[in-house]
Parts: sequence; C-alpha cells; structure tokens
Amino acid sequence: MAYEVTATRRRPKSFDELAGQEFVAATLKKSIETGHIAHAYLFSGPRGCGKTSAARILARSLNCEKGPTAAPCGVCSSCREISKGTSLDVIEIDGASNTSVNDVRQIREEVLFPPAQSGRRKIYIIDEVHMLSNSAFNALLKTIEEPPPYIVFIFATTELHEVPATIKSRCQQFAFRLIAIETIRDILKDTCAEMGIQAEDEALFWIAKESTGSLRDAYTLFDQVVSFSDGNIRTAAIREKLGLVGLDMLNALAEACAANDSAGALTLMDSILESGVAIEQFVIDLAGYCRSLLLLKSGVVRESLLGYSPDRFSAPVLERWDEVHIEQGLSIILSLYRDIRYSLSPRYELETAVSKLCWLDKWISPVELSSAVISLRNSILSGKTAAMGPVAAEPPATEPSAGGSAAGERSAGDNARVVPGPAAGDAKKSGDGLDLSAPGSFAAEFRKMMAARGTSALSAPERSDTRESPLELVRQMFRGTIVSGPLVKS
Ligand SMILES: [Zn+2]
Repeated sequence: MAYEVTATRRRPKSFDELAGQEFVAATLKKSIETGHIAHAYLFSGPRGCGKTSAARILARSLNCEKGPTAAPCGVCSSCREISKGTSLDVIEIDGASNTSVNDVRQIREEVLFPPAQSGRRKIYIIDEVHMLSNSAFNALLKTIEEPPPYIVFIFATTELHEVPATIKSRCQQFAFRLIAIETIRDILKDTCAEMGIQAEDEALFWIAKESTGSLRDAYTLFDQVVSFSDGNIRTAAIREKLGLVGLDMLNALAEACAANDSAGALTLMDSILESGVAIEQFVIDLAGYCRSLLLLKSGVVRESLLGYSPDRFSAPVLERWDEVHIEQGLSIILSLYRDIRYSLSPRYELETAVSKLCWLDKWISPVELSSAVISLRNSILSGKTAAMGPVAAEPPATEPSAGGSAAGERSAGDNARVVPGPAAGDAKKSGDGLDLSAPGSFAAEFRKMMAARGTSALSAPERSDTRESPLELVRQMFRGTIVSGPLVKS
C-alpha cells in the first residue's frame, strides 16, 4: 500500500475525533440530531484546524445510509464514497481556482438537478470561499437565498473578513479555533503509539509548538522528523538535522550577555553558526527565547506559552535582567530580524545585536530618562543650580523644587549618568557633579533653546501642550543621542 502522510491517514472521521473544536462539534451534532439543518454553513478559522474535515464529516452525517445521524457509520457506500471523494452528491470545489462568475453559474445550473440517490442531500463544499470574485458572490447569493430543499452549502474560509456580509448573513457561522499546543502534543503521542515510535516528550512538544495551533502543520513537521529519526524521536536529533539553536545554547549565550561578557557571547555565537544554524533561524530562536524570558518575568509559567518548563531557563539571566531590559532585548532582536533581509551583511547585524545585548543592563528606558530630565528641569527652574555652579549629584530632596515631582526626585541622582555631552568630562572632574554653568554644557544649550523659543515654555511648565514644554525641548535636544539610540553604555 502506498505511503499516506499522517495528516491524511489521521483525518478525523467523526465529530468526536475533531480535535480542539468541541463547541463546533457539539453544535453541529445537536443540529443534526434535532433535524435543524441549515442550507448554508460558513466555517471560518486558521488553516489546518479542521474546517474541511468538519465539512466532510457533516456531509457524511447528512448522507449516511443510516442517517441523517451525528455518528455516520463510515462503512456504507455513501460514507465510503465521500471519504474517497467520489460521491456524486458531495461536490468539493476549491474557491481559489474557481473564482469566476461562470464557475458559480455552473453551480447554479447544477443545483436544479436533485441528488443522484433520492432521500439524500446534494452538498457543495466550497473551500477558500473568500477567493471568489464579487460577481461570483452575487451569482452565488441568488442560489443560497432560495435553494432547492435538498441543497446544502458548506463554505470554508481562512479570511472571514473577505466574505461579503450578504453571504455571511445567510449562513450558519462556525468559528474554528487554533488547537492548544498540549492537545496537539497529546495527538502526536497517540500517533507515535499507533506507529510504534518512541518519542521524547520535549521533542513532541517542540513539534506542537512549531505548528502554532495547526494540526496539519504539526503532522507535516512530524512526518519530516519521523523520516530522519529512525523510530526514536529525540530533541537533540531534531536540533541537529533542522539546524536549530537549543535551549542550553541560548541559556549560555544569554548568561554571557547578562554578565557583560561580549567576547564570550560573540565566540559562542560564532560556534553556534559554525554548527550549521542559519542566521535567520538563530534570530528566530533568540527572539523566541527572549519572549519566553519576558513572559516568565511577567509571572507566566504555563509551559505551552514558554515552550519549556520554567526551571529550564537560566536563573542568573533572570536575576540579572529585569522586565525592562528583556523588553528592550526583544525589541533589538525583532528589529534585527527586519533588518537582516536588507543588510549588506546579516552576520554583522547579528554581531552588533549580540554586542548590544551584552550591555542590556546599562540601558536606560525613556521613562527613566524623562524622570531624570524632569528633575533637572525642576532644579533649573528653581534657579538654584546655575548660581551654585557645579552641582553635586545628590538627590535634591532637601532643595525646594518647582515641579515637586516624586518621579523626578527618585532618579535625580542619575543625572550625571543620564546626561552625556561636552560637560561629562568636567562633571567627572568635579566629583560626580554636573557643571551646569560651563559653556556648551547641557544647561547652557537648554537655555539657548529656551531663549530661541521665547519664554512661554519656561513660564508655563505645566501646560498640557507638551510639544513646547521644557521637557519636550530637552527631548528634542537629545533626539538621536539617547532617546532613539537603543543602548547607552556608561
Ligand atoms: Zn454511512
């Protein structure tokens, strides 16, 4: 017997076998049992989650010789014909390749002929129905408005929003959902047992995770893995054959980054690439890893979301990086993924990103920066700092401040760290202080800008139009140096 791919071999044959769509299955079963059969159904949902299978099960339920029944026998001639796709009364049409109005006109003429065997229904399954042209939809509309009593239309689509409202309103709609990763893993386990294959739990979980809720994708990947696994599916073998970066490698890389060890991180990166991992795959795996860290830091411990059990992730990394750091790291990796397609050298981009990750804990978020600037603004507005000359970088808790913002006071001590520029050297000399009166210093620049814009911004610091507020002016001054630069090394 010819080899049959797992997705075809394990296609569900009854509503009870329809994985992950319990609500749809229960509703369809109920309507068949009570005889409330609609003339048109619309199944929508992501690819590979059981829409076409459900349509075929529904067709068999309606046309089974023992039916209509919610549990088609599967052995009568009608059931077998539908399975093989040879039934004269169940017509499957691919909407993607039959988009024209003429195709639909043909359907309109055909529906006038009753089913080949009396007492049955004539069922049209139109897949990817959203691909039909507008005129085709209009032609179809006439038919589904007043169909002959023996006709049932089952439409399936991945793009529900592209189906005209006039069609939707005449159909009973069913939304198919992505299948839970755990459910897919359990199905794969059953498949392994059925095929007499050994499999590591983590490996099956990985396949389930990669398929992102599509059982068909899971089966396809499963077949690929089975083909090189020799009866024993192992994570290590998958990683090696498919060129993936394993969790242990990612942990080691993140540990080097978190320890500011750029030499170590770049060397590790090189050895991962040497092992045959493609740069794009590397970035994808790294992004997935960072996402898991972020979820973990946010308190999510569900294995299906993290991809691994929480204790598999490096403790030193989780300790060293906080949520803001990881968020920034993830955004560096995601923009890296966008950039490498157009880059002169994807490898250089990757190295730059890894190097940036090594300084993640030095990164200052715009929120921190803005509170530092607010506190600086407050001290300038209070008129104290300029007269005092070099200002010690102590929090101005004892100083009267104009705005009196708590956030400003909290991070006022970071001023010297936040503000770079010509004054930074002087600041160091004067003992961690920031010389606001020095020519070319931050404060001097600030005053120049204020003067150029008139005094309105100074006299109304709390006005709601923040576009002209002192804070915004400072932001503009630093645009391109801190605010838009992803990382600041101290
Ligand atoms: Zn049957």
